[in-house]
Amino acid sequence: MNRIEHIGIAVKSLASASEVYEKLLGVGSYKTESVESENVLTAFFKTGENKVELLEATSEDSAIFKFIEKKGEGIHHIAFDVDDIVLEMERLKEEGFILLNETPKLGADNKLVCFVHPKSSHGVLIELCQQIS
Ligand code: ZN
Repeated sequence: MNRIEHIGIAVKSLASASEVYEKLLGVGSYKTESVESENVLTAFFKTGENKVELLEATSEDSAIFKFIEKKGEGIHHIAFDVDDIVLEMERLKEEGFILLNETPKLGADNKLVCFVHPKSSHGVLIELCQQIS
């Protein structure tokens, strides 16, 4: 795995959280995107090499909706950049990690993504992401 690609934060309202993060980071979001497969609306912020992704649920089926119901707003996942997501998924499966999707799916920000169950990684939901060139 390469560097941390971004940190995902679950929020109730993307509009109001975006205002706060804009003030906090001193930059506006460079991208807002709806991810149909996850029922979320996302906004990305970039500071230096680091990215923050804010996620708002667009339906009650969304994992973000369930997360906020259970735990409230806050850090939802840490995403790692990988060169070959399929190879990395195979490696993690062999190491005994539980993957939440069997095949890579299309995520936000032009990436193929896969999630690792937080049970496997001491309570932290891990996202693998591979840039689609
Ligand atoms: Zn993410």
